[in-house]
Order: sequence, then C-alpha cells, then structure tokens
Amino acid sequence: MQQRLDQLFAEDRAHFMHPSTHAHDHATGALPGKIIKGAKGIRIEDHAGKTYIDAFAGLYCVNIGYGRTEVADAIYEQAKELAYYHTYVGHSTDTIIELSSRIIDWSPAGMKKVYYGMSGSDANETQIKIVWYYNNVLGRPNKKKIISRQRGYHGSGIVTGSLTGLPSFHQNFDLPIDRFMHTVCPHWYRQAPAGMNEQQFVAYCVDELENLIAREGADTIAAFIAEPVMGTGGIIVPPQGYWAAIQQVLRKHDILLISDEVVCGFGRLGSKMGAQHYGIEPDLITIAKGLTSAYAPLSGVIVGERVWDVIERGSHEYGAMGHGWTYSGHPVCAAAALANLDILARENLTQNAADVGSYFGERLHAAFDTHPLVGEVRSVGMLAALEFMENKAERRPFDAALKVGPKMSAAALQRGVIARAMPHGDILGFAPPLVTTRSDVDEIVGIVREAVDEVAQSVLK
Ligand code: PLP
Repeated sequence: MQQRLDQLFAEDRAHFMHPSTHAHDHATGALPGKIIKGAKGIRIEDHAGKTYIDAFAGLYCVNIGYGRTEVADAIYEQAKELAYYHTYVGHSTDTIIELSSRIIDWSPAGMKKVYYGMSGSDANETQIKIVWYYNNVLGRPNKKKIISRQRGYHGSGIVTGSLTGLPSFHQNFDLPIDRFMHTVCPHWYRQAPAGMNEQQFVAYCVDELENLIAREGADTIAAFIAEPVMGTGGIIVPPQGYWAAIQQVLRKHDILLISDEVVCGFGRLGSKMGAQHYGIEPDLITIAKGLTSAYAPLSGVIVGERVWDVIERGSHEYGAMGHGWTYSGHPVCAAAALANLDILARENLTQNAADVGSYFGERLHAAFDTHPLVGEVRSVGMLAALEFMENKAERRPFDAALKVGPKMSAAALQRGVIARAMPHGDILGFAPPLVTTRSDVDEIVGIVREAVDEVAQSVLK
C-alpha cells in the first residue's frame, strides 16, 4: 500500500504538469501535494485516509456536494444512449435542447440563446469574439476594446488572462495584450482613498471608469466584463449601489455588459444568479462551475436578445459564424447539468445558500470582528473571506514575504478544513458547497478560529 503510494507520488512529480503550481517545489517534493481518494457530501478523503471539510467546494464548483449518484447515473445512461454527437450546422440532442431552456429559466429577463464550451476560460473567449463580431456587423470596427477590473478573474488563456486583473497571471506571459484595460477594483476596505465612505467610493469607481472611457474614447470601447462578486481576486463584495451606478455609465456610452457568473451563477449568492441578486441587466452572461457542480466540464455563454438580433442579422451577410468547439453542447455534460439542476431545485439549495450563508456570515463576524489580525470579514450567500492585517487601525497589510494567508490556510488544513489562500493579499476564502448545514458552519468556524489563533501567535511574536 505505502509502496504503491510512493510510486504514485513519484510518477506525479515526474510526469504531471499541474496548473497553478510551483514547478520546482513540486518536482523536488518540497511541495507535499495530496492525492484525493474519494469524497461524500462536503468531505473529501486523501491518500492517507484523512478527511477534510471542503469549505471551498473544490474550486467553488461542487455546489451539490460530492458523491451524488443521481448525477453519476445520468452521465452513465447518457453515455450508453448517445455518448457524443456534434452540434454544428444545426445538429442537436434532446439533452442539450432541454438544458438550454432550463438555463434561460435561471437567467434574468432578456436572455435568448446559450452557446456551450467546456470551461469558464473558453466561454469568456467566446464572449469577446461575439462582442467583436457584434460591432463589426454594426459597422463599428473601432469599437473593440474591453474593460475589466483590477483583481477580476476571467480565466488564464491569452484573451481571458488579459481580462484577468491579477499581476501573477500576466507576469512572463506578455499579458495583457492590446485592447484590454482594467479599471478600479470595487473593494472599499482596501482601495478607497483615506476618509471616503462607501457611497463616496461608489462615486469614485464611477469617476475612474468615466475617466478611462474618456481617455480611450467611448467609440473604441465594446464591453465591460465583471463578476457580480469578485472571486479569485479576494471575494470582494461590491459596495451598495455599485452595480446600478456602473450600469448607468455603460448604457450612456453604449458599452455591452458581460456578467461573468462562473462563480456566482446557480445559487451561490442565495439568488438564481448574481445578476438577479444585484439587479444587473447584462447583455451577455458567462456560466460554468455550478452548472454541473463539476461532475462534468461544461460552460456556457448566454446571449441576450439585443446581441442575438445582431448575430442573426450578421448571418445574412456573412453566412455561418466561424466559431465552434468539437465538444460544444456535449450530451454527457448536458445530462450531468440537468441532473445537477434537478437536485438544486428539489433540495431548494439556492434558498439554503441564502439561509446558511447568512448564518455563516454571522458566525464569522462573531468569531473574528474583534480579532487583532482580522481587518475585514466579508460574506454574501455561500461566499466569505477573512482579510488579515498587520495593523488593523492603520489598515496596514503584512509583508507579503511572511505569507500569512498561506499559513492560515495550511493551519486550517492541518485541522481538517480546506479554505483557500486567495492569490492576492492575505485573504482566506470560503465557498462551501450549497448543501452545507448550520452545524457544518459551526465546525468550520470553530476550526478556523483555532487555526487563525495559532498563526497569530507565531506572527505576533
Ligand atoms: N471566470 C470566473 C469568474 C472564474 O472564477 C473562473 C475560474 O475560477 C473562470 C472564469 C475560468 O474558468 P475555468 O477555470 O473553468 O477556465
């Protein structure tokens, strides 16, 4: 048994190139790594038989929890019946037809069609192509630039890595490429100039956006893409009124709004999607993760009526759109999505995310508001974060070299809770499965409090 494990670890180090992993530390074994054996509900088990509460739902995706045989059965039945057929030139399958209608039911008003991919990154790639196509059909070939936000995350391809506003995703890749620019991150606690209250900060975000548009010229800007609540950038909950104010600017300058709902979609905020939660009226929506709860890889671009009309018009002049993936609308993934959406509806998991999520927020505030190292506790639905500060009163962060965030995450992991050290700042992020209960929350918060206290002792020495 031990011999087999040693061999697996050796082969992993020898031949598997992991995403977002320190190459040298992994290859030498300095990064211990983990081989996951199985999972049930909100708990996963590693090679050593140790179990952990997965308070990040994988990568905020296993929303219905692990081990749902109903989804596995749906995948099996579909694979037996029809494992694959392509969807080019009007071909379809009953699963993908049903799924498309169901997705439109989950979406805010005005959404018309769904285009499918395999990942959030490829869906956002499609978004940008659609936006460029749209403006070409409308005879506005110069209206092509895209605005996203500092610390936003939209994927790690060439275009999507350019949309992403995190320096570590640009460094050594020559990103961002031309046409992509970033405006201010709506994080009042860290980004607001001294003395500004939240409402003034919203006005500041609006001014920053207006200034960027004025500098570049509104007639050169095609779209603004943003997550309703920022995920990977640090789980940033926007200040009240932010979305209404930003949308006004976009409408004024005829700039399309893409709501990247890869994390927020399908119940995570306690609403159907982030759009309904914040009253966002997007032209296009990106979905992935929670669409299948990661039982199979599937993403989508939901196209609103306004954009769809132009695409349809374009086909008169240009014929079929030259864009497609082999696996677009894959029937096995669609079957997984349908079973996942059934579970979400039957078990009322969106409401659970609202109820248990708000309890989670309360427990985190109770445990950490007065903690000397916790500068901010933030939460909405089943997303939450603790941001650590060396000096709370002055909002002075720790020296990044101390790696306080990763130390917090490691201490929690050691005690059996997976919470993610977010890549930018000393932030411990939570995105538990939507099936998490109040007693799970109590357990998570209790363990995390012990972990934070332990790390606090060592850094305050
Ligand atoms: N958009 C958002 C908001 C995300 O959080 C992610 C991934 O975390 C992506 C896009 C990219 O998705 P993927 O990793 O499936 O390419």
